[in-house]
Amino acid sequence: MDHIDELARAFGHFPGIGPRQGKRFVYHLLAASIGDRAKLAELIKELDARVHQCPECLHFYTTSAKGICKYCSDTTRDDTLLMLLEKDQDLVAIERAGTYRGRYFILGGVLTLSGKGVIRDKELLKTIEQRLSKGLKEVVLALGATSEGEHTADHVRRLLASHRDQIKLSTLGRGLATGSELEYSDAETLRAALSNRRET
Ligand SMILES: [Zn+2]
Repeated sequence: MDHIDELARAFGHFPGIGPRQGKRFVYHLLAASIGDRAKLAELIKELDARVHQCPECLHFYTTSAKGICKYCSDTTRDDTLLMLLEKDQDLVAIERAGTYRGRYFILGGVLTLSGKGVIRDKELLKTIEQRLSKGLKEVVLALGATSEGEHTADHVRRLLASHRDQIKLSTLGRGLATGSELEYSDAETLRAALSNRRET
């Protein structure tokens, strides 16, 4: 295959980027200096060596030594709460809001109504078991106010059905406008949604 097309196609698989934009990226790179291209290639190559996934919450973070992340290892955080998030960027948004002090788990995606998408079912169930032994009482479904978010929440409810006698399930309260994603919500909105969370 033509190399330009091949790279454009690779960029075209990025979220929100189509084949035409993929090609724009390639020509942008071709117009850049050799040094800039080398730096970008190096940054991508270094991802595997410098960024690791926390084995507990499954979020990616830059670290020189593998191990659990600062949110999972912080003994001052509340073990009775576990927040389920779609993606890493949502965790950043929640931390920015600054009021949540429980634990996290990254689902790694959402499920669409047409049956597409995968989330970390097996890992979630394992985490719930482990967290129950540490005093877990409430699972906060902090998903976007989108149809995918709703659909994913339904799936998680079914998945955790057998634990419902031990744990309370809650969702973010009003404040989060319909159609909005956590990642782009401001801190004030997230704080309100968190404090108004309701049992589901
Ligand atoms: Zn972690």
